[in-house]
Amino acid sequence: MQQKIQIGISACLIGQEVRYNGGHCQSSLCLKTLSEHFHYSAFCPEVAAGFSVPRPSMRLTGNPDKPRLSYRDDHNADVSAQLITASREAMPKMQAIHGYILMKNSPSCGLERIKVYQDNGHPHSKTREGLFTEQLRKTYPNLPIEEEGRLHDKYLFENFVLRVFCYHQWRSQVMKKVSVGEMMKFHSRHKFIMQAHDYNKTVALGRFLAGLEREALIDGAEEYERRFMDILAKPASRAGYCNTMMHILGFLKQHVDSKSRQNLVSVIKSYRRGELPLIAPMTLLKHYTPRFGGDYINDQSYFDPYPEALGLRNGL
Ligand code: SF4
Repeated sequence: MQQKIQIGISACLIGQEVRYNGGHCQSSLCLKTLSEHFHYSAFCPEVAAGFSVPRPSMRLTGNPDKPRLSYRDDHNADVSAQLITASREAMPKMQAIHGYILMKNSPSCGLERIKVYQDNGHPHSKTREGLFTEQLRKTYPNLPIEEEGRLHDKYLFENFVLRVFCYHQWRSQVMKKVSVGEMMKFHSRHKFIMQAHDYNKTVALGRFLAGLEREALIDGAEEYERRFMDILAKPASRAGYCNTMMHILGFLKQHVDSKSRQNLVSVIKSYRRGELPLIAPMTLLKHYTPRFGGDYINDQSYFDPYPEALGLRNGL
């Protein structure tokens, strides 16, 4: 059985009663669907900072670029340093995590759209991330991060799971002992999944790798990681998936008879028009690739980037 990937998570999402009101926001998506594949490291930055449970409700106040954490009923208070220090102290313990799921609307854990209030009590039009999230992003800029609420969108859910599995493979297979050979192997295995997301950036990344000098290996690996995760940052489009599948079909054409090829093209086009889910053309392709694809095609993570049991491609 595959080892579970370690994921950071806002503690209230796994049922810990750490919220300001003494409650939790348990997520069945995290606890049931994803827990088969992810092992959670729960963290509550406000509790780590020494705030009590229950505690007065908090919010961000002042300058949106450098807000202070204050209390809803005392906006002159400033407890930012307490929260930021606890968040920074927690960062070294998060080196082994390969993704993070955050609670929405929190001045500490929110990923985006967190309101910052003016001294007159009205919010600025500019919103931002929570103070803990800001530290997390600064320390681990390429870490896949998502809000639990956004995971209920099937495209964002698939994209987050994909990024976690790819980041995990990169960190555990390449970054533990960086070498040009391992980077080349990784790039080759993930080429089609990258192409489905952004063809031009994938080609540019291949050129970058080909020109990488051994003396600059560590810096080069860090740059590769940044660009690789940037390519996967948004869900792939139907057009991107179709182009990649047609490309794979090109590798098979000498072995697959013309009637079967036409059938495959027709199913790919139906997917493109939104009449079939991604699983339909992928299943057909996977019928031929083990026999006719050769090592290069069959090694592609494109076919199985995450466990099939999650059923993610059924909904795309
Ligand atoms: S600080 Fe984060 S983990 Fe703690 S209760 Fe608030 S949202 Fe949940």
